[in-house]
Amino acid sequence: DRDRNALNFSGGPGALPASVLAAAEQAMIEVPDVGLSILGISHRSDWFAEVVAETENNIRRLLGLPDTHAVLFLQGGATLQFSMIPMTLLRGSGRTADYLRTGYWSAKSIPPARLEGRVRLLWDGEPGRFRALPEVAALPYCEDAAYFHYVSNETVEGLQFHRIAGLDTVPRVCDMSSDFLSRPFDPSRFDLIYAHAQKNLGPAGVTVVILRPELLDQMPDQLPPQLPPVLDYRAHLKARSIYNTPPVFAIYVVMLVTRWLLHQIGGLQAMARINQRKAARLYQVIDKSQGFYRGWAPGAHRSEMNVVFNLATPELEAAFLRQSSEAGFSGLQGHRSLGGIRASIYNAVTESAVETLADFMQDFAGPRGG
Ligand code: PLP
Repeated sequence: DRDRNALNFSGGPGALPASVLAAAEQAMIEVPDVGLSILGISHRSDWFAEVVAETENNIRRLLGLPDTHAVLFLQGGATLQFSMIPMTLLRGSGRTADYLRTGYWSAKSIPPARLEGRVRLLWDGEPGRFRALPEVAALPYCEDAAYFHYVSNETVEGLQFHRIAGLDTVPRVCDMSSDFLSRPFDPSRFDLIYAHAQKNLGPAGVTVVILRPELLDQMPDQLPPQLPPVLDYRAHLKARSIYNTPPVFAIYVVMLVTRWLLHQIGGLQAMARINQRKAARLYQVIDKSQGFYRGWAPGAHRSEMNVVFNLATPELEAAFLRQSSEAGFSGLQGHRSLGGIRASIYNAVTESAVETLADFMQDFAGPRGG
């Protein structure tokens, strides 16, 4: 477990399970049963249609996704969804979209929405330096919003909602890029969910979008007719995610990861239990360190995916990063906008890797490490 991949706590592209990396390596040379490198297999082949079908089906099984919802594999990252969503649901609607501004990524989602129509911030955490999340029950929701948008896990600050926000009567849209498939939730309460792959699902290049097609049918008069087809969910739904050349390799790896979740881990309940233990172990070290490590997020909204903390001085943080790198860890540097330290413990980071990091942190803190 001590190789560098096992000790990769990167918050950008996350680590992948070792068994998935081995299968991806083999597919690069020759996909079993096909006899070709995955990089040379046509996206129009029957084989690839089956890969898309299985990946969708695995996601459906993992989430318990009802038939009311469709699964799409799109490109352009979560960032393109920041635009596609308001282009589809806000442009020309004459209504207002409600957003929560809870951290670096939700802040990024708002300017593209403003290009398409009126946006109302139900909460803005910036004056408090994005150090806390609002109580979801206390927000001034609006019944006639075009939709309500939030980010379930703020990757940079390590802030995570542990309850679903929004009204059940207003279309609920959620960026789950950094916690999708890390825990179970009720997908029927969401109208649109998006998550890029490069945290818990696979390599960068594909973004999973789960949406209720009825959302698009219900508002034909409001759907802007002038959308380019590649930005129109309806074109992708009709083409079953193969409207143009999709990222075949990335989708294949998502299939391998969802197989791993189903058959190796045993589903999202089991994954969530593991993730909770991992997070608890690191927060325990922080809490017991008598202020040597200073957690960014308050207890109730701490993320189980990104453990973000500071040390007393930038020099001490630099020493922590240097020594941790010498000890084989990588990816521990905080996001460029925030600095500090971030240990991202996405699904594929093992409990044993977390234990190794917890030990390192205790040693580094010396007598205060406990
Ligand atoms: N949303 C969240 C929660 C993220 O963590 C990120 C990037 O890490 C993004 C959106 C942007 O994603 P992308 O680079 O795939 O566009």
